[in-house]
Amino acid sequence: MKIGFVSLGCPKNQLDTEVMLHELMTAGYEITPDETEADIVVINTCAFIESAKKEAIDNILDIAWLKEHGRLKGIVVTGCLPERYRDEVLKEFPEVDAVLGVGSLHDIVEAVRAVERGRKRYSSFRDRDEVRLGGDRVLTTPQFWTYLKIAEGCDNRCSYCAIPYIRGRFRSRPIGDLVAEAVQLERLGAVEINVIAQDITRYGLDLYGEYSLARLLKELTSATERAYFRLLYCYPDKITDELIAEIRDDPRVLKYVDIPLQHISDRMLSSMNRHGDSAMIRDVIRRLRSQIPGIVLRTTFITGFPGETEDDFEQLCAFVREVRFDRLGVFPYSAEEGTPAAEFPDQTDPQLRQDRADLLMRIQADISAELNRGFTGRTVRVLVEDYDAVSETHFGRSAADAPEIDGKVYFKSRARIAPGSLADVLIEEVLDYDLFGSAVVPGSPENVPGVPGGARGGDGSVPGGSV
Ligand code: SF4
Repeated sequence: MKIGFVSLGCPKNQLDTEVMLHELMTAGYEITPDETEADIVVINTCAFIESAKKEAIDNILDIAWLKEHGRLKGIVVTGCLPERYRDEVLKEFPEVDAVLGVGSLHDIVEAVRAVERGRKRYSSFRDRDEVRLGGDRVLTTPQFWTYLKIAEGCDNRCSYCAIPYIRGRFRSRPIGDLVAEAVQLERLGAVEINVIAQDITRYGLDLYGEYSLARLLKELTSATERAYFRLLYCYPDKITDELIAEIRDDPRVLKYVDIPLQHISDRMLSSMNRHGDSAMIRDVIRRLRSQIPGIVLRTTFITGFPGETEDDFEQLCAFVREVRFDRLGVFPYSAEEGTPAAEFPDQTDPQLRQDRADLLMRIQADISAELNRGFTGRTVRVLVEDYDAVSETHFGRSAADAPEIDGKVYFKSRARIAPGSLADVLIEEVLDYDLFGSAVVPGSPENVPGVPGGARGGDGSVPGGSV
């Protein structure tokens, strides 16, 4: 039996896919990257917001077409969509043979076996708070960069967010398990390890009675030899002084922090049920920038949240212009059934949500281009991802670029440089989000000491804004 996989949604879901792939391969199934060759296709879905649900449904319909017209015998749907809509998935899509909730991902072999035997309408919805966390996985990223999921679920209860209802309460994985996994990832070739969870700053509160991300990072960097760690999805009110000191002082923790802020208007923050107010947000940005020279800040905002006035949005635009985030993403508000915000009376027009998102991104494009111009003439250390034979250009990412969401560094080099190596690139041209240059000293993780800096040279700092 050949099994095809479609993995949708965020990196957290991607890691669940990797665990399921490993369990299927261990059970003797062959995995094929080509769905038209598969006997059974597993679709691991996301249902966080409307566009993700639509993408999941479109994929189910595409694969259902293959079942009607090709060799495909069965379809298994897993992840957030069935967790959120339970039996509706089987009812609405008769082509689907099996569904697994997020607490049942370890039932994947049983589900595939059931479909193989011709059983229809297999379903498993175990308690999502009890699911075994972690597990061996087959990497779907290149081996030189990967993710490390340190916790599951979320306890923050932002009023617009369906994740706590889908993924359950926040549960940290033990430090020992995470250290063992990081050591194994490094053994497989990982140079960059991206630390993820719905909220990584809450790490440890449930297991150890206190915020323990700083302690975890210390253990991770002392147990590994050269891998560097990037922090994604930090919640602003839990960025402790201890964590800031760890980012500043540990050379293998990248000076890059992703802090989704969602808004800056106090009215909106309160209505969103975010912890803390605009003063707290400004304070955390000030502490990060003053204590960690060259820190790269990424954030995301939501536009058109219920009740967002022209004045609230103006505050947001002014804040973005003032802070000059290095990286920024914007989501138009999506009213999610079952969340408190979906019941708020003052819903905004969907077109307004989109228009405001577009406007904010236009503001950021100018800021990003201006910040990027500051890189011209500087040397940036880049983790080489690949080589494009058509343009004869290598490309990769600096410490300032997270995988899949940020820009890239494109560069020429006389010698071919293997993916996974580190290269120093002199920046000669810039676009809004990408940098272009030439390799200065090609190297590999073995012969280039240290870890990527954001941009080195001059005063050693990365150009940024102030609060
Ligand atoms: S922190 Fe808020 S937005 Fe993020 S997953 Fe938790 S509830 Fe959702």
